[in-house]
Amino acid sequence: MYLAYNARMSATDTSKRSRKQSTTRLDRFIRQHSDHAISDTRLLIAQKRILVDGQAAQSIQQTITEFTEVTLDDRVLQRRKPVYLAFHKPLGIVSATKDDNHRTVLDCIDHPQRDELHIVGRLDFNSTGLVLLTNDGSWSRRISLPESGISKVYEVTVAEPLDDRYITAFREGIYFAYEDITTRPAELEIIDKTHARLTLHEGKYHQVKRMFGAFQNEVLTLHRISVGPVELGTLKAGNSRNLTESELSLLARV
Ligand code: URA
Repeated sequence: MYLAYNARMSATDTSKRSRKQSTTRLDRFIRQHSDHAISDTRLLIAQKRILVDGQAAQSIQQTITEFTEVTLDDRVLQRRKPVYLAFHKPLGIVSATKDDNHRTVLDCIDHPQRDELHIVGRLDFNSTGLVLLTNDGSWSRRISLPESGISKVYEVTVAEPLDDRYITAFREGIYFAYEDITTRPAELEIIDKTHARLTLHEGKYHQVKRMFGAFQNEVLTLHRISVGPVELGTLKAGNSRNLTESELSLLARV
């Protein structure tokens, strides 16, 4: 087993903006979003004054998520569309929502709901490639869970020549002393002397650099080409696109 060099750590690579799950009951929602008391809800339902996703509300216990449309009389209490984006992060952009010194991923996004978005799985300042963004906290939490085992594929250029020892070591796992964990089996495909494609099934802090660091081999370029079923493809650096229905349904199964 190889030991990775020590590095400053963070528990997860999911952006801090990832929100808490916001699911509530209809009566609590009405109390929070109108001047009515929680106990008024039954009467409002009976009078058909509350619409949930366009249909008359049925029960005080009806589940309201952050994306359920709710109107009371003709007043919209909540109308929010879920957004799921793929972004091609260029070099020198910070995977954050705000930064005093550099442009951030969010600064590069041109979308009407931009301010609601958070990053799912950051890339380092000097890494490039695919980053997912959403305003759906439950979705990002689910696909970031270690149990999801969602694969992330990276193209890597390193300073020193590669050989089969790397393939074996990465498959067996690299020990990260700081967290006292061994990385999950990862697949390394050596393309030529200093280029490789690495598939990970987790996202530890600086994981790729630390895995090659176990061999004192510096990562010179790091480019993420896919996350689960989502591929970067021909998306140009600095551009974003909506995830397709088929990508979303494949991700719903992880
Ligand atoms: N691993 C790293 O070391 N850096 C990244 O940006 C992503 C994975």
